[in-house]
Amino acid sequence: MYRRPTPLPRSTAILAAVAAVAAAVLLNPGTAQAAPAFKVPFPCGQSWVGQTRPAHSPPNAIDFNRADDQGDPVVASAPGTIDRVTDLGGTSYGKYVRINHGSGYTTYYAHLNAFNVSVGQTVGYGSVIGWVGNTGGSTGPHLHYEQRLNGADIQVRFNGALALYWGEKTYTSDNACSGSNTGAGTVNTAGAPLTVRSGPGTGYSAVGSVADGASVTIYCQTTGTTVTGTYGTSNIWDRIGTGRYVSDTYVYTGYDGFIPSVPRC
Ligand SMILES: [Zn+2]
Repeated sequence: MYRRPTPLPRSTAILAAVAAVAAAVLLNPGTAQAAPAFKVPFPCGQSWVGQTRPAHSPPNAIDFNRADDQGDPVVASAPGTIDRVTDLGGTSYGKYVRINHGSGYTTYYAHLNAFNVSVGQTVGYGSVIGWVGNTGGSTGPHLHYEQRLNGADIQVRFNGALALYWGEKTYTSDNACSGSNTGAGTVNTAGAPLTVRSGPGTGYSAVGSVADGASVTIYCQTTGTTVTGTYGTSNIWDRIGTGRYVSDTYVYTGYDGFIPSVPRC
């Protein structure tokens, strides 16, 4: 015998609808992704003053500065894919890069002096994406930096820690401190220990030494006093730790001059 199914009482139907919505809501936490571990967008060990202010556009952006920062390298704050390399000319962001980190997260790097990436390129921690500049609606060299989620400006976090809102704070980068954007070198002095200086030059104070034959990690390179040593005459200095520099002419790196993958200090 066939019997027509009894329709659900109205109240039961509503409850069923509410249950369906609740189930959908409950599913969301499982599908939401954690934010990437964003790092300060400058090479390992560098300290930059980040300023936030309510009148900024957008309000949660940070403007970064340090002394003589024009032309300093800007690095990816997390792994991702470059999805914008845009020059807006003399307005707004000027030259800017956007990185797509997946799960709705993007980061913006604006007022750049020049680009070091192209759209579609994959970047990792410490990848140099461009250089600090003064392009667009900017009145002095600085990096304008944003984190966004699904296109909306969000408060910046580094390693999960909320940036200072509002005001100025010094942030020291741990970006790629042990990553692939460091260089490897071997000290070669033909005997004597190599003096480690507090800065990139012989005029800086000696803060220690490294033995002939020792392996060193090179976090960044810069120019300083010209020195003649094992590998000829060079003004390149290697930063091998915080406040620790050695002349590159006593370090075998496999390269004449700068190591391509290592940032400038
Ligand atoms: Zn800004």
